[in-house]
Amino acid sequence: MAKIVPLTDARTLPGGAAPLDALVARTPGSPGLPTDRRGRALHDLRISVTDRCNFRCVYCMPKEVFGRDHAFLPHDELLSFEEITRIARAAVGLGVAKIRLTGGEPLLRRKLERLIAMLASLSPDLDLTLTTNGALLARKAAALADAGLKRVTVSLDSLDDATFRAMNDVDFPVADVLEAIAAAERAGLAPVKINMVVKRGLNEESIVPMARHFRGTGAIVRFIEYMDVGASNGWRLTDVVSAREIVERIDRVAPLQPIDANYEGEVAQRWRYRDGSGEIGVIASVTQAFCHDCTRARLSTDGKLYTCLFATHGHDLRALLRRGDDDASLRRALDAIWRARGDRYSELRSQATAGLAKVEMSYIGG
Ligand code: SAM
Repeated sequence: MAKIVPLTDARTLPGGAAPLDALVARTPGSPGLPTDRRGRALHDLRISVTDRCNFRCVYCMPKEVFGRDHAFLPHDELLSFEEITRIARAAVGLGVAKIRLTGGEPLLRRKLERLIAMLASLSPDLDLTLTTNGALLARKAAALADAGLKRVTVSLDSLDDATFRAMNDVDFPVADVLEAIAAAERAGLAPVKINMVVKRGLNEESIVPMARHFRGTGAIVRFIEYMDVGASNGWRLTDVVSAREIVERIDRVAPLQPIDANYEGEVAQRWRYRDGSGEIGVIASVTQAFCHDCTRARLSTDGKLYTCLFATHGHDLRALLRRGDDDASLRRALDAIWRARGDRYSELRSQATAGLAKVEMSYIGG
């Protein structure tokens, strides 16, 4: 099993403003939108608004690691809504067209609607969305939509109640997540996407029932290969059910055909039912790495910018903000970070990368 790195260690990795100042100083300014060292544009920003979660999914925040005495970030270390919005504004200026709020569980962050309204005002064309476990969604969906949220993705790993309760490990029932999905649809946060992480021996028998249940409803299920994010879930390659196997299982009962991506760099490979009853997505981050067109940056709860989900350290934008840098310097810093980016972890994934002290998904944002 990979070495477990407590969050505090990840936070004390080389950071602060100095390394970023050095990077900016050695990056020549350039007009136009930045591309990284592999020619990839900056299109998506994922923002983790809290490192806390009300679930303890066994593959993400297992209780043995994230127990009662786990040290989550203190409130003053979190980016404020104003700080998040300043970074988002700079990112939109550099080409970001899609922002996803995540966590942890984003709906645990108080008054999230206020942040959504602030982000929505950055650009009318911004694709503003959120990933949630759904536990608090039914009561918040209308307020989120009113504030300017466009869509939601709801995580649901099985329709079998016993399997789902065991996977979220807080005994949360399937019925409440289904009610949350219905509330999101009523609020206009559609099409709702459903994220199902598939782990061998845990929920692969739920693939076909999940596809059947949502076929013809307009909701889009996205089946996700179980990934080696963080260092606490004890990931093994043998636990991965490949996207190919997932598609084959569904295709046997409901024939599928591939369709084009909505845009370059889209994470999910899209498949439609041949009878026209909807589509599914598969996210093959392990078996078919998609680093070559990855256009995502991630902002951690405490303001570090990561240019890869599997990164070991991020760039401390909060340090810049809190020492009083103006918007132009913030934009220059983001631009320099993106131009220096060369990450392609999933393409390199091997024995050599297995022991890396990767940060946890709940902190960096799933
Ligand atoms: N709490 C929210 C939720 O449950 O959707 C947002 C955060 S969660 C980290 C975001 C997504 O990452 C969820 O769909 C979750 O299932 C997925 N995820 C977490 N750990 C994963 C792993 N090891 N492999 C693949 N997906 C994972």
